[in-house]
Amino acid sequence: MWGVSRVDGLLDIRGVKGMACFISACFLVVHVIMIATFWRCGVTPMVYFNVGSIIFYVLSFELIRQERLGLYTDLVYVEVVAHMTCAVLLTGWNSDFQIAVVGMSAFAFFAEYLERYLNIRHAHALHLCVLGAFAYLGSCAVSALRPAPYALPGTVSFFLRLTWGAIVFGVSTMVLQAFVREATRSEKALTNRLMHDKLTGLPNRYYITEYLDKLSKSGDLNKYWVALADIDDFKHVNDTYGHNCGDFVLETIAHLLQEGVGDAQVCRWGGEEFLVVGRIGEGMESQRELLDRTRRTIEGQSLWYEEHRVNVTITLGVAAYREGYTRSEWINVADERLYEGKKSGKNQVVM
Ligand code: GH3
Ligand code: MG
Ligand code: MG
Repeated sequence: MWGVSRVDGLLDIRGVKGMACFISACFLVVHVIMIATFWRCGVTPMVYFNVGSIIFYVLSFELIRQERLGLYTDLVYVEVVAHMTCAVLLTGWNSDFQIAVVGMSAFAFFAEYLERYLNIRHAHALHLCVLGAFAYLGSCAVSALRPAPYALPGTVSFFLRLTWGAIVFGVSTMVLQAFVREATRSEKALTNRLMHDKLTGLPNRYYITEYLDKLSKSGDLNKYWVALADIDDFKHVNDTYGHNCGDFVLETIAHLLQEGVGDAQVCRWGGEEFLVVGRIGEGMESQRELLDRTRRTIEGQSLWYEEHRVNVTITLGVAAYREGYTRSEWINVADERLYEGKKSGKNQVVM
């Protein structure tokens, strides 16, 4: 019910609009019940007030349709505060209408969070809560100073107290739970975006440096090797077949590389370069075999882009970890070997 639909794990406006429609529908039902209650108890001014509220909640669907959600939050909050103040001043503190304002704080902050997230005009929950507090304290003082002009029967007051209690606890619990869940989910989705390259879907440089730092802290680096792989003459692919073809080649090579090296971690290091981090098996020779087999697979693969057949090769520079290397020194060694490979004919593994 409080779930928000999302694009790529992130919130989207359609889900938030759905949530607002649900709130308006619930508030409509509550106000219809309130009209019946006030009508039966003879509190005529509150019957008129609730007719106005019902008209407002019907119109609120149009505000939601227009995506004016900040204004929607402000008006819903003000309606509840006004309703509470009038009900308390007319029927006294005992009916517990005032508790509705306390529950609205959670609603206002969650709404502000969603609206800020969606980058639309947002409500100012803090300002609304200050208004709510003044109304709450003011009506408390006034109802203590003078008797209410209308008295609700004891049983009606009792059931109103129970109903408001249930609604306020129910709504604030659901809203706060949804708040925590959405905040955690969007944080995870954003971290995932931050750590991955959009074109190839591979982890990016930021991810892999964190990964290497974690390995370093665990004291396990001496069991690892890194390889810098660079597509040969990639500029020629872009210049001959266009940038879109270049993108397609990058995506395909990323996929072939990850498939070829199995458990080793591949990331897009930048441009047409990939960094592979693998665990040393039975000596460096097996890493050479693994990487050379991957290189040959890529060499032998014809990539079809529209009607063009594109063949590319890669050069790799490999370095096993040596005691005392910093992360950048280690990767530099692989980079120097990659450079050697480029100078001496490309399409090879240098270690
Ligand atoms: P070498 O064999 O020496 O590596 O030559 P190269 O042409 O591959 O290397 P160079 O560094 O001259 O060119 C790399 C090109 O990669 C330049 C840049 O426009 C292109 N490139 C970098 N990122 C992207 C990308 O995301 N998409 C596309 N299509 N091209 C990219
Ligand atoms: Mg290149
Ligand atoms: Mg390059």
